[in-house]
Amino acid sequence: MKLKFWGVRGSIPSPGPETVKYGGNTLCLELRFHDSERLIIIDAGSGMRGLGDNMISQNHKNGPINAEIFLTHTHLDHILGLPFFAPIYYPRTKLKIYGPVTCEEALLKDVIGGQFSYRYFPVRQNELEATIEYIDLKEGCYDLGDGIQVTAKYLNHPLLSLGYRIEYCGKIICTAFDTEPFYNVFSTDPADPSYDELLASEGESAAREENQRMEEYIRDADLLIHDGQYTMEEYERGKKGWGHSPIEYIVEAARRASVKRLAICHHDPLRSDSQIDVLAENYCSGEIAGDMETFFAREGMQIEIG
Ligand SMILES: [Zn+2]
Ligand SMILES: [Zn+2]
Repeated sequence: MKLKFWGVRGSIPSPGPETVKYGGNTLCLELRFHDSERLIIIDAGSGMRGLGDNMISQNHKNGPINAEIFLTHTHLDHILGLPFFAPIYYPRTKLKIYGPVTCEEALLKDVIGGQFSYRYFPVRQNELEATIEYIDLKEGCYDLGDGIQVTAKYLNHPLLSLGYRIEYCGKIICTAFDTEPFYNVFSTDPADPSYDELLASEGESAAREENQRMEEYIRDADLLIHDGQYTMEEYERGKKGWGHSPIEYIVEAARRASVKRLAICHHDPLRSDSQIDVLAENYCSGEIAGDMETFFAREGMQIEIG
């Protein structure tokens, strides 16, 4: 498998002189396969515009474009690139868009299609030239054919969000964004008026079990691409519950799960290149990461697996 990062940022595109090195576009990954023409795109953040332009210039003369787009969830930073993805304006393009059904049970087609209304954008859904099929996903295993298996796993985010574990020719790429560690939602402080001993202990064990399930889901991945928007200090100082992970936790969890390479992504829009460089110095080598190859994903970066 060959993976390229077209966007690595979280929350909102953040272009400017401070983000040139790691990139300011929001998440979009391109995944290609050695013995197959299949193309998987994970998330449709603002980085998707560059991917689409590249596909048109490289591929379009060779024939129709077929792609499968796996959306982790439908927060704006993960879908706002779709209207600017040039292949959707070509009649020979065929897209399958997979994504989680939302908590309101609205259809993916309607959630995504909502962007294509005159209220937000000058082109309507029924004016798009491409043939688009929408597929609502739940947690489970999906056989895409050509030896490609995808396992979708619910993550911990304010909106239902899916991680994807993609297996091909014995190699594994796993995504886990947007997410944070599961935690006990009940009070554990006996002095708190809402404290309930039974709920507190059930909450503890539920969180522990879910975090263990997460470690099984990422186990033995050749490449894990994981949300790492905050440091532990930032997370504990008021970001808990926002749906993003502290770097220290994910590095430890990935090591416990024998992950071979860890790419940290969903960089905070306020984080400058020089600040990410400092984080990389602190977390990507030495005792914390051990011998697991750990790095902060950069726009334009390409990785070969297998
Ligand atoms: Zn996000
Ligand atoms: Zn999100």
